[in-house]
Amino acid sequence: MQNFGEYRRIIDRLRTKQRCLWLNTHLVPDRRPNLTTLAGITDAGERLKRNEPLLATLFDELNVTDGRIESPLTKAEDLIASSPITGTGAWFIKRDDLLPVAGSIKARGGFHEVLAYAEKLALNHGIIGPVSDRRLLATASARKFFSKYKILVGSTGNLGLAIGTLAAALGFKSEVHMSADAKQWKKDRLSGSGVNVVEHQGDYSAAVAAARSLIRASDYFIDDEASSFLFYGYATAALELKKQLDEVDRKVDSRTPLFVYLPCGVGGAPGGITAGLKAFFGENVHCFFAEPVASPSMLLQLCTGGTESVSVADFGLNNITEADGLAVGRASLFAARHIQEMVAGIFTVSDDELYENMAILEKYSGILLEPSAAAGIRGPVWFNETKEGRGYLQKHHIIPDHVTHIIWATGGSLVPGHQRMKYKNIADIKLKNLARNSSVPAE
Ligand SMILES: *Cc1c(COP(=O)(O)O)cnc(C)c1O
Repeated sequence: MQNFGEYRRIIDRLRTKQRCLWLNTHLVPDRRPNLTTLAGITDAGERLKRNEPLLATLFDELNVTDGRIESPLTKAEDLIASSPITGTGAWFIKRDDLLPVAGSIKARGGFHEVLAYAEKLALNHGIIGPVSDRRLLATASARKFFSKYKILVGSTGNLGLAIGTLAAALGFKSEVHMSADAKQWKKDRLSGSGVNVVEHQGDYSAAVAAARSLIRASDYFIDDEASSFLFYGYATAALELKKQLDEVDRKVDSRTPLFVYLPCGVGGAPGGITAGLKAFFGENVHCFFAEPVASPSMLLQLCTGGTESVSVADFGLNNITEADGLAVGRASLFAARHIQEMVAGIFTVSDDELYENMAILEKYSGILLEPSAAAGIRGPVWFNETKEGRGYLQKHHIIPDHVTHIIWATGGSLVPGHQRMKYKNIADIKLKNLARNSSVPAE
């Protein structure tokens, strides 16, 4: 039973679009994924691995990484040493903004599902056998075969970029249904790769519903609201992070726990990563999601604790935000069910804060992210500057200096020059207005 006073306080803050940190009352700190999920994640890791030579063949950019879809983990010392953001512990940024080809966190999940579908078709039609070299999927005859099939997806932008780009490279017909908030450059980029971009007036859920309603028997629909292939693909990031933490000698145990801050839209990407991290680190990893104040769909879904889908509109919120990748009014029930007991908490960010975060990161670390991707940057600050955050550390017997903080930067490297300039200009203005030490609103 949750504390009713606290529940009311959170709902009041959400309704009035004030930033807040919700601590998950359903958290079971040592909850790990079940056997089906673990098998799915292992499978995804193996599928991505065996298709590396194929990806290296399809994309020049992946030739240099031998087909690996990986991103660097970088230290974020500059950020806490000199910027207006202050903090303790060790800070790192996971640079999924640099993921090759797709330029966002959507790469691992999106590529995984397209590869799984391509493999299945090709196996069923005798184009490959179970152990064949996957480069056979890039031959002219395979392309010709794939061209008879269509892959559809609904997206706010980045999922479409990941799926559409790989689907088109393999020769599939591909159709991406974009919500009204999708950025023009993302649509242009996809159209340029031969993807059929269909624009919708409504939000992300409407785009998904439209795509779903158009599927025919021979089509394949990638369902971001319910896909296990996406989820397992995203989760493979956990193994990558574990290796990278080993390389920089950051141990994860009860004395030196890991805190991870993940921007959340429908919940698949941050949810999959959370499941993967829980599999490795159990109670010593604490995963926090970041959502826009206008779109706290996962927060509401988990906080109300029901099995029915909850919409932000039910709480008077309009789902309008500059964070296009996070503009989701209803969370995925699939993701919510998987992570209900694994997510430590969720905090909300205003659009102003997104731009401030972008500006600070650009100025002090030289990294330009898209607004969605900047949602987690001030995550660690909650644990220094608020009663709830400090209370969480005390409850779990955590010493602030001992924490390794990972801020997940989820997209940005594909943002074209003119859009970059726009972001930089807005960011510069925000930075000028930013008073030192005003990072989290006073309670
Ligand atoms: C999609 C996206 C997310 C969140 O992923 P979901 O699976 O929608 O929760 C975060 N950041 C960026 C940049 C994204 O494109």
